[in-house]
Amino acid sequence: MHAIADPNASSGTGLDPEDWSAFRALGHRMVDDMVTRLERIRDEPVWRAVPPETIKRLTAAAVPLAGVGPEQAYEDFLRDVFPYPVGNIHPRFWGWVIGSGTPIGALSEMLAATMNPNVSGLQGSARYVEAQVITWLGTMLGYPGTGRPAGLMVSGASMANLAGIAAGLQARGGFDVGRLGLARAPKPPVLYTSDQAHFSVGKAARLLGIGSDALRIIPTDSGYRMDLDALRRIMVADRAEGMHPFCVVGGAGTVNTGATDDLEALADLALAEGLWFHVDGAFGAFAALDPELLPLVRGMERADSLAFDLHKWMVVPIEAGVVLVRDEHALRGAFDADAGYVSSMPGGIGHDAMSYAALGVELTRGFRALKVWMSLKAHGTEAYGALVRRNVEQARYLARRVAEEVELELVAPAPLNVVVFRYVRPGLPDQEQDRLNRSILVGLQEDGVAAPSQAVLRGRFALRVCLVNHRTRQEDLDVLVAETLARGRGFVAEAVNVS
Ligand SMILES: *Cc1c(COP(=O)(O)O)cnc(C)c1O
Repeated sequence: MHAIADPNASSGTGLDPEDWSAFRALGHRMVDDMVTRLERIRDEPVWRAVPPETIKRLTAAAVPLAGVGPEQAYEDFLRDVFPYPVGNIHPRFWGWVIGSGTPIGALSEMLAATMNPNVSGLQGSARYVEAQVITWLGTMLGYPGTGRPAGLMVSGASMANLAGIAAGLQARGGFDVGRLGLARAPKPPVLYTSDQAHFSVGKAARLLGIGSDALRIIPTDSGYRMDLDALRRIMVADRAEGMHPFCVVGGAGTVNTGATDDLEALADLALAEGLWFHVDGAFGAFAALDPELLPLVRGMERADSLAFDLHKWMVVPIEAGVVLVRDEHALRGAFDADAGYVSSMPGGIGHDAMSYAALGVELTRGFRALKVWMSLKAHGTEAYGALVRRNVEQARYLARRVAEEVELELVAPAPLNVVVFRYVRPGLPDQEQDRLNRSILVGLQEDGVAAPSQAVLRGRFALRVCLVNHRTRQEDLDVLVAETLARGRGFVAEAVNVS
């Protein structure tokens, strides 16, 4: 039935098809199914739970000793895997910060896997594609202000934050951290970020051995921006106690509300205090693509290191994160490595074999850059600027709709593409309000209507809409408002009935 060769045949392992034309036909079918799915995604529910019998088939199957062949494997995929995405390919998905992905991005992943290069630095076109993408991104973001950025594609902003902070620790830790280790630190290094920073900053502090206690969490103002007076006060106190402040992490678009710290002021402060300035711009960095929004992130171009994702607002398929630095030596200082088996050869494939691997954690690195290169070429940066603009305008529209409805309340300012709001029933105790909004949120998701996620701000539970979705239309936000109101009213009626 299937086209794979008998694994015991002397002609080969069976891992390449024996009948290439049958395999080609299967490939064409796969591409047809991919394209049809995306073409009709709007007609699907945003999300559906994976049925228990499917989970069982997915998780309790025996190891397949003998293969069933690619056609049958594909049938299983169509039955058990393909119908149950997380939802972010749908126009009404606005949860967490998850980009929608694009058709050209999906096809690019097939192409990248076909070439299957290891982009450690080995000679081949892929390293130049990545170099080009890094330069393009620097130009798009205006980073660094002058000159050319160095940088690396990584899995995501978590890794990019780790890389940037690691570079900062080596450069500004006050001693040779890589060689001596933190146990021999003359003064314990400390770093600073706001209470709105992403948890990956804390993870980096733990992984680098600095410890989460050495991460000073600075409070934020009513706009959820870092309180710079508090930052200065805490830093002075730390110095007085013999600590060594080495880094401040600013946010360009924080995850809860899309707030951006005063990056210009942070850059000034970092300069004056001799700190490494790292900016987490996971999605918000791309405000720089729109002239009206650019002032929000001014100062970002002065960062020593900048982390962002392409799989969020740039809607490139997951995973695609980037760390950019002003000076490549900073990443090298933290990650450089050498061994005979990777030493640079005078020519051939192994010339400069470690040029990327020396800038980050990974040695074997996939061709993540291709989907970025293809996307930017195919659509042009103007299309991405227009997407940012459109999503921000949609966020403003939603914020207006929320403000107009007496039963809805904006819980935080919405300066960018994130809107945090909740349904309110006057007189309902706080805990019940939270329960009501949790129930609305889960209901919206489980009924496949829309997929916001949640934020907990100053102790209050709220619905959170993060627009990094090129498929969303204004009418989708109208559906969200109408359905939230309907569910809120329904829930309250229920609660009143039982009491
Ligand atoms: C998503 C996000 C991160 C983490 O990025 P990953 O790609 O998920 O690793 C860090 N910071 C912010 C502000 C984010 O939104």
